Amino acid sequence: MRFPLSFTYAQFTHRRKMEKAKRERYPTVLMLEPLYTCNLACLGCSVERYTGKLQDRMSVERCLKAVDDCGAPIVNICGGEPTLYPELKDLLDGLIQRDKHIILCTNALKLDTKVYGIIKPSSRLFLMIHLDGMKETHDFVCNREGVFDKAVEMIKQGKSLGYRIYLNATVYRETKVSEIEELCKLTDTLKADGILVSPGYDYASVENDIFLTKEQTHEKFKAIRELARKYRINATPKFLEFAAGMVELPCSPWSTVNFTPKGWKAPCYLIEGEGYFQEWEEFWTKTNWSYWESREDSRCQNCKMHSGFEHSAVNEAMKTMSGKLRLAAWTLGW
Ligand code: SF4
Repeated sequence: MRFPLSFTYAQFTHRRKMEKAKRERYPTVLMLEPLYTCNLACLGCSVERYTGKLQDRMSVERCLKAVDDCGAPIVNICGGEPTLYPELKDLLDGLIQRDKHIILCTNALKLDTKVYGIIKPSSRLFLMIHLDGMKETHDFVCNREGVFDKAVEMIKQGKSLGYRIYLNATVYRETKVSEIEELCKLTDTLKADGILVSPGYDYASVENDIFLTKEQTHEKFKAIRELARKYRINATPKFLEFAAGMVELPCSPWSTVNFTPKGWKAPCYLIEGEGYFQEWEEFWTKTNWSYWESREDSRCQNCKMHSGFEHSAVNEAMKTMSGKLRLAAWTLGW
């Protein structure tokens, strides 16, 4: 299995429940950003996500209210660097009590002091470790020497302790497909559970011109699609076709909603198209979802992010029997 059975089952039952309730739009993932403080300032990250003050972080109660309000079965904790959140254990305990599956996105630098030995491994907890290339590239992207070596050490230690660990790589203009293949091999060597590969998004607040054009995304993802036949790349087959420019999909920004220290971000994790809402109900009912689904906004033209399109990719696959079978085989890891 590509993911633990409980993770696949939680998504399946959530989908069935929403279909029975005749809901066309519903969140499956909450991208929860308890803080905008980070111990790195990576080149591809939006400036606000690493310049926030720790005292401006959200309380655990506010985080859990957002979890309850949106009802998504998966909570992706990002930020900022979540291991710097002093109340991380309380937050994770609250999520486990609510039967949520948790993806903890981290640069891994503090895993040994803030997670290992403090937060128990669980089939509901996935550590998603940022690695944008091999040593030279990753340290360059992270603006600091030694980050790659520490992350690799943390993956080894985490696997020996029984944690589920995935690698998370962003593809930039200068990223060579051969280096993505090296990362895939590293995933196998370290016995990590898989690797997520995403095209970098050109945030308005990022100053460096390191991002892919649509054509470059298509070219690189055609090659990455081939790698997915050999390695555990965690993108559905239809999403990879989309990233390679073989099919078009509408966006589903409502499938992956984003709660930040400033409130609910509309429409998505990537852009402040309609600003922030303090209350869930207001965010959900007032955001112009059909506009963002259409991708007619100029900021959506080059976007091929998992958060916007994996739900659409699954919907598209579910329209045909061959698509369903391919998705089932992918889920089983065949
Ligand atoms: S296309 Fe991208 S930027 Fe636009 S709404 Fe969807 S996820 Fe957000």
